[in-house]
Amino acid sequence: MRWWGWGDPARAPAVGPAMLRLVGETVGISPRPRPPVALARVQLPSAQLPEGARAELQALLGDDAVRDDHAERVKHAAGRGYPDLVRLRAGELAEAPDAVLYPGRPEQVGALLQVCAKRSIAVVPFGGGTSVVGGVAPLSADHAAVVALDLRELADLVHIDAESRLATAQAGMRAPALERRLAARGLTLGHFPQSFEYVSLGGCAASGGAGQASTGYGRFEELVVGIRLTAPAGEIALPAQPASAAGPDLRGLLLGSEGTLGVIGELDLRVRAAPQERRFEGAFFADFPSGVSALRALAQEHAAPAVTRLSDEAETRITLAQAQAAAGAGSGEGAHESMRGALQARARSRAGRAYLRARGYGEGCLAILGFEGTPEEVERARARAHAVVRSHGGLPVGRSPGEAWQRQRFAAPYLRDELLTHGVMVETLETATQWSKLASVHRAVGDAIGGALRAGGTPGLVMCHVSHIYETGASLYFTLIARQREGDEIEQWRAVKQAAGEAILAGGGTITHHHGIGRDHAQWMTREVGAGGMAALRALKAELDPTGIMNPGKLL
Ligand SMILES: Cc1cc2nc3c(=O)[nH]c(=O)nc-3n(C[C@H](O)[C@H](O)[C@H](O)COP(=O)(O)OP(=O)(O)OC[C@H]3O[C@@H](n4cnc5c(N)ncnc54)[C@H](O)[C@@H]3O)c2cc1C
Repeated sequence: MRWWGWGDPARAPAVGPAMLRLVGETVGISPRPRPPVALARVQLPSAQLPEGARAELQALLGDDAVRDDHAERVKHAAGRGYPDLVRLRAGELAEAPDAVLYPGRPEQVGALLQVCAKRSIAVVPFGGGTSVVGGVAPLSADHAAVVALDLRELADLVHIDAESRLATAQAGMRAPALERRLAARGLTLGHFPQSFEYVSLGGCAASGGAGQASTGYGRFEELVVGIRLTAPAGEIALPAQPASAAGPDLRGLLLGSEGTLGVIGELDLRVRAAPQERRFEGAFFADFPSGVSALRALAQEHAAPAVTRLSDEAETRITLAQAQAAAGAGSGEGAHESMRGALQARARSRAGRAYLRARGYGEGCLAILGFEGTPEEVERARARAHAVVRSHGGLPVGRSPGEAWQRQRFAAPYLRDELLTHGVMVETLETATQWSKLASVHRAVGDAIGGALRAGGTPGLVMCHVSHIYETGASLYFTLIARQREGDEIEQWRAVKQAAGEAILAGGGTITHHHGIGRDHAQWMTREVGAGGMAALRALKAELDPTGIMNPGKLL
């Protein structure tokens, strides 16, 4: 992972002139590129582990497993949210861990927590470090120091029980590594967040996420059957029972605990047969409400494919314009084909005409439907889903838009880095709400973000899609782009975030559907779960983490 951004530099897609022109015309770009500073120029607060702590931790973990060099501290100083990237690229980090710990054996975790509790050192569990809500921010609160606890050495696949369709893995294992091992046995976990390339299983469990195929496979918490957590006060080991009536679901208390209760060390995960076929297609709707009603029917009639997404008019417009820009640059065969498919469909329906209007900056909404299973299952599911789509005025438009989405499904964070270099703010935020409120929350949050950007003098573009659907409601995922206010990027972001958070809660949405609470959403947690809910969470934390060293400043 690039220390200032996302991913493998070799895989970073170039943003061509056509794309830059599109963004420039839409929101404006900086007249000169603004690359990140050199790593050596990043400023950090000085490291200050309490006297003797370093030696004690080294005796426990080994000399190489306690690191406090500049590069290690920078790499563990932030997650991958927009404000993280702004600070990293500017080389101005007000916070950094005093040291980074790399336990190599599971039993070392409990022992190091004892040392940290005794010496008042805050501990931030660190998986892939992809949190976008300040979940891995190295806050010491009122402790003497703070360490990042990097779990990458605890990354074994412990066991596969193919008969029970269960995989047991250590929490530091990365999602792609698990998928590779499962694929060799004809299995899959089915958790594919956009951050898939870097997430750890422990991070997914601790932050309550949902992958792009969650409609088919379930949210991450639904994939966790058993879990082991080491807290400063001791261990909790919940076995992988298929179901149990033994009191309240303690698993649910540990999932989404964001490192504030202890360290998740091992997980038993429900796995499935890997699909023989994956087929991604597009469908077009005349407008967002008709697309939403189709998605609701898909969910409520149990006809939804594994991946079910619907872009609003603004996101559709930009997606198609982007595809055209890419095609113009010679790399958009998929886009060409989808346009051809649409042309054929043009005269036949209102949605077809809308599709074409969207190409020319008119209205219309694109849905992506991803079917998985055996060829027979895929055909059956397609027939059912297409019937629902058509009965809501939609038009299936073939494979090209779906395949284009599939090719690009993990590309957005690379693109974000490129746009940041050109002085463009790119932020995403998300919520979920009941179907009956979806339209009003969509409108209110979009208006709030747009209003905050305009008030700050940088009118931007706000786009949204639905990407996780349930019988009772759905998620809304907003992407905003705007020209950065140079030198004032964090305040610009804060105003937008505040406005969006308030609009979400006022409209009846949840403050987060899958990014988690972390530091950035903590101010809204009481409104989300009530004073009683907070008291219960605090009581649990006081019991498991009596000195409050576990990830202070997050969640609670
Ligand atoms: C570009 C981008 C796209 C994203 N897309 C999605 C998406 O589609 N769906 C989604 O759900 N999320 C998404 N995210 C958010 C993020 O990737 C997820 O929250 C992810 O699950 C975090 O995993 P991680 O291993 O990186 O955790 P980290 O960022 O390392 O940690 C996240 C939180 O969990 C805690 N933690 C980590 N490991 C442990 C452990 N073993 N025990 C206890 N606590 C632990 C940390 O202290 C922190 O509070 C995206 C992020 C980015 C940057």
